[in-house]
This record gives sequence, structure tokens and C-alpha cells, in this order.
Amino acid sequence: MDRTLIAAVIAFTLLALGFIAIERLWPAVRGQRLLRDGWKTDAVYWLFTPIVSKNLARLGIGVMLAALLLISGAKVNRENIEAAIAGRDTWFSTWPIWVQALSVLVLSDFTAYWMHRAFHGRLFQASERSQFRSAERAGQGSRAEACLEDTCGEANAALRSSPPEIGRERGLKQPLTGWLWRVHAVHHSSRELDWLASVRLHPLNELITRMVQVLPFYFLGFSPLVLAGVAPFLSLYAILLHANVNWSFGPLRYVIASPLFHRWHHTSEEEGLDKNFAGLLPIWDLLFGTWHMPQGKHPQKFGIVGNDMPQSLWGQMMYPFRVNRSPTSASFPRQCHR
Ligand SMILES: [Zn+2]
Ligand SMILES: [Zn+2]
Repeated sequence: MDRTLIAAVIAFTLLALGFIAIERLWPAVRGQRLLRDGWKTDAVYWLFTPIVSKNLARLGIGVMLAALLLISGAKVNRENIEAAIAGRDTWFSTWPIWVQALSVLVLSDFTAYWMHRAFHGRLFQASERSQFRSAERAGQGSRAEACLEDTCGEANAALRSSPPEIGRERGLKQPLTGWLWRVHAVHHSSRELDWLASVRLHPLNELITRMVQVLPFYFLGFSPLVLAGVAPFLSLYAILLHANVNWSFGPLRYVIASPLFHRWHHTSEEEGLDKNFAGLLPIWDLLFGTWHMPQGKHPQKFGIVGNDMPQSLWGQMMYPFRVNRSPTSASFPRQCHR
């Protein structure tokens, strides 16, 4: 049996025991089923991510380094690629190792924050400026949203004629941002959030994020391997962020991301959409206007609003490439943009 596979199985068993106990003792959503919808798919992701997604990301980083060498006029050979991976001697490499490690965490979290915003189609815009009205649909108890004013013409008409509960997909007019959201929507599709939901991530999400994260490290002259050094810590921390607990960490809520902080990010409720993008340091959300943690309030609904995500791993892999010409398509202007 492959060593990666053995490590993944052992980690799964240990973390399952720990997190099941934690989620039983301090549940955010009482009575949430242990074997919730999609748990089997997420268990497969547990093996799929280290074997497929991580290796794909490594390959992508290698290809990108080769391309950077080519652009800089250097020969693309094994020696030069290995030198690029090893990094250069810069002022940074003279710092104490713990300062280097902290700097890497801060810089990689900053890049991840902006990449996360890009996946949500909110790179240049902190939050949607549209105004919405919520309407409870008779008999369904579900919410439909539409623009208040008739300034969006076609989009408004389509919204009104849409069936209930398709709700608001990200209103992304641009093909690229719409596609990025469809890649990231896989991660947001769990309707019951728990520790295991953290691994539901499209490999392209991992690939694109890691490739961009490596870029500043490359230009600053230090080894992309330092990112590999902090990655396991960030992965482990991400599991805690998704746990079914409402821990906010009290006054430390402004310093370090908490499970409650990230649960607001995963909510399908209007007030939490496109908020709390940071994976570790909420300072980025505070600085750039995307912080949301109302006192004494907890999110209740999770998942993507349209809820059109397939349950199977294959269906989720194909989701970003699915041609969907119905009004629920992310490429359709679901929102009223101004
Ligand atoms: Zn997200
Ligand atoms: Zn998440």
C-alpha cells in the first residue's frame, strides 16, 4: 500500500475520532447527522486530495517555474529548475528561521485571501452593491431574491420567472470569474458543515491557488519549498475551521480565524455571502471590508444557493465544465449589477 495512502487513512481515523467527539460535545447545529448527505463523497476526497490534487498542484508549480525561467532567458533544464526550487540567497534567507516561517504564513495567507476573493468573483469589489428584496414563496417557505428596481431589465425579468429556491447564484457576468466561482462552488456545496467538508475542494481550486501563492516567493528569491513546509499546518487548521462548532475565540476573533468565522463564510444566507475570506488571519477581511461576525448570531443555512451540485465526485469534478444554459447558470447575471 502506498505510503501516502497509509498516512491518509491513519490521519482520517485519528481526526475522525477527535472531531466527532468535539462536534458531539459542542455542536453548532444540534442533531446534525454524523453520516450526513455527501459524507461518502467527502471520504473519497480525503484520499483523492493528497494523491491527485496535491500532485497536480506540484506539477503546475514545476511547469510555472519552467515558464518563468524561459521568460527570464534562462535555459529550461533540470539544474535550473532545481536551483529555482532551492531559492536564492537573499536578505530574507539571513533572518532567523522562525521569522522566516511567520513571514511565509502571513504572505501566503495574504495571497490566499485575494485568490479566494477572485474565486468568488469579488477581486475588485468587496460586496455586491445590488439591493435585494427577499420574498417568501407561498407554501415553499423558500426565499427568492430580485432587484428592487427595474434597472436590470432582462436579468430582473428572468429572476422573477425563476422557480423558487434557485435563489442567487453569484452574479458573475464575466466568463472567467463565473468559471472560477463554479470551480470554488464545489467547496461551498455542503449543506451540513462539519470537519470532513473541509476536504471537498476541486483540484483546480488547489492548483490555481498554489501556483499564484508560489509567485511572490519566487520573485522574493526564497524557496517554494517553504510553502510546502507550512501547507500541512494550514490544511490541518482548515479542518478545524469547518467543524460543527460555534467557537469564535472571543477577543482573539480579530487575530485568528475561528470555526464561527468560517461558518459565516459558508452560509447561504444573504448577510454572509462573500464575507470572511481569510483562511488564517482575519486582519485581511478587517482591512479590506469583508469581515462579518455579528455578536450573538450564528449562521443557520449552508451550501450554494441554487443547490445544483451533483453528489458524486465525478459530477463535482465536471461541475465547472458543465454547459448549463438555464437561468441558474453562474454565467447568467443572477444579480442586478450597477
Ligand atoms: Zn469561499
Ligand atoms: Zn471552507
